Amino acid sequence: MGTTASPGAHGRKAIAVEIFEVAPPGEGPSLALHGGAGGRVEELTPDARASYEQGLLAAYRAGWQVLAAGGGALDAVCASVEVLENDPQFNAGRGAALTATGRAELDASVMTGSGLAGAVAASRYARNPVRLARTVMEDTEHVLIVDPDVAFLERHGLAVVERDYFITELRQQQLDRVLDGRAVAARHGTVGAAARDAGGRVAAATSTGGMTGQAEGRVGDSPIVGAGVYARDDVVAISCTGHGEAFIRGVVAYDVAARIRYTGADLAAAVRGTFEQELAQRGSTGGLVAVGGDGRVVVAHNSPMMLSARGTGPEPALTT
Ligand code: ASP
Repeated sequence: MGTTASPGAHGRKAIAVEIFEVAPPGEGPSLALHGGAGGRVEELTPDARASYEQGLLAAYRAGWQVLAAGGGALDAVCASVEVLENDPQFNAGRGAALTATGRAELDASVMTGSGLAGAVAASRYARNPVRLARTVMEDTEHVLIVDPDVAFLERHGLAVVERDYFITELRQQQLDRVLDGRAVAARHGTVGAAARDAGGRVAAATSTGGMTGQAEGRVGDSPIVGAGVYARDDVVAISCTGHGEAFIRGVVAYDVAARIRYTGADLAAAVRGTFEQELAQRGSTGGLVAVGGDGRVVVAHNSPMMLSARGTGPEPALTT
């Protein structure tokens, strides 16, 4: 559906945008999360698929539990993302993609529909970067802090870990393959969530290790408000994954929201328009999860696949 295949900026082919939609629930909450995208579904072994499914389900349930108990959208997206950060199969928190020198530098963000936002870039010691992003939002006057030191984390009661905590053997192997040219750096491993709570408020959160083999200090879209995350009550909450530089240039999350606000586009049409004009035209790929102001859920990607869980009840629809 939608875009035509065209050569990517990095020699890849952009593929058609694939969209899954969940109808608005009426009164109840909605939740959608992604666990990254990239390779082809057929490349996953059945065991790997089952394991991703378990991870996505656990994350969905953590968020859903909050929403079902009448909790807020912000608490729900943070609960889901934290589960994904703690699960080493996903590129966030433990198990994050490694930089060219084999270190983890983590980016994360949160935004509420009421217009508050917090983010961290190149974080090295916070066990859960999404918590740190929330702390920046709630406990400081700032929106984005780069590489806060251990003293900052301790002052705010955040769990601190050694840098080795984030490193897994699998990511080290992946880095070796990228550095010696056997593999291309995956550009879609980020995790994230978007939700609308029973009170109608929306929120989104995004967390990532970035791209395998990235330069030290490189920051992608994930902690950039409007690029990798965006939320506005009565409009939409969005979390993105993909080629960060393209998402920043296209201000992708905000572009979707702007289409809805200024043209009255419905959520799926807005997402499709953004993919076509801001990503496909740059030859770039990625995906996003979005929850509209009415609770409608849209999950979209133009990468070969994207792991996601989405729903308006305790049992989500999964794509692995
Ligand atoms: N968007 C992330 C970044 O550019 C990468 C990803 O989604 O995997 O850092």
